[in-house]
Amino acid sequence: VIGYYNGKFLDPTSSVVPIEERGHEFGDGVYEVIRVYGGQPFLLDWHIERLLNSLHAIRIPSPHDADGYKELIVSAIQRSAEEEASIYLQVTRGAAARNHLFPADTTVPSVSLVVRPLSAKPDQKPGKLLIQPDERWANSYIKTLNLLPNILAKQAAHDAGADEALLVRDGHMIESASSNLWFVRDGKLITAPTDRFILPGITRRYVLELAGQLDIPVEQVKLPLSELSSVDGIFITGTILEILPIESVLSHPVFGPLDTLQSGSPHPLDVKPEECEVIW
Ligand code: PLP
Repeated sequence: VIGYYNGKFLDPTSSVVPIEERGHEFGDGVYEVIRVYGGQPFLLDWHIERLLNSLHAIRIPSPHDADGYKELIVSAIQRSAEEEASIYLQVTRGAAARNHLFPADTTVPSVSLVVRPLSAKPDQKPGKLLIQPDERWANSYIKTLNLLPNILAKQAAHDAGADEALLVRDGHMIESASSNLWFVRDGKLITAPTDRFILPGITRRYVLELAGQLDIPVEQVKLPLSELSSVDGIFITGTILEILPIESVLSHPVFGPLDTLQSGSPHPLDVKPEECEVIW
């Protein structure tokens, strides 16, 4: 495992982040997770394009252009000597005396990175989803550091014996806590369109490209939760988990009847597997 912070490669457990770093105090930053296969970063151009979009969206001037990020990533992979790895790359608005307002123009954004070895193949036994209200903000298309609603939803899913959350907003199935959501119905793939409420996944984009090459029809619509019973199959996609088939969807009674599920429902504290019902 190797780390990097503002120009220096170092042990990722070393203490280098100043207390008044805006990523640390405000979550004022964005990130990417990139998969390395056989020593090569996969779909790197798409990740860098999304990183630059995220930075632009929250008005952080990018400290590097696309080639600068590529050089950094390639040299980090070489230093790590890993063949199969994940790269976590983060850019924040930098370190400055704590103030909600953006710091002066002279404050330099901070760049950090961790390369971590992975096994060549992810665990591919079919997974379970737990239905959860999508309580994230209205700009989930930006890959920001503010992941508290995602963390709480994924932990509730784990507590229920599931692998991921199925996030529902205004009665529609949006995505998962750290993956995009897909349905198969009548020989067609269905996934939510990339509006402001979903993260435009790189794996989602890759699956769309593969579906095009294979002439598999795709419909980009938000399916209402009430149509869950009509789907033939479900899978989720993400950089590290790749494509995970889903074998069942669980619901927890704290959310009430399915057709009245709204994004404001209370959090299920301490969800127990025996309180959950399999609804698909
Ligand atoms: N949706 C959310 C909320 C995510 O956090 C992620 C990745 O972490 C994804 C979808 C999948 O995106 P990608 O395929 O780029 O990993």
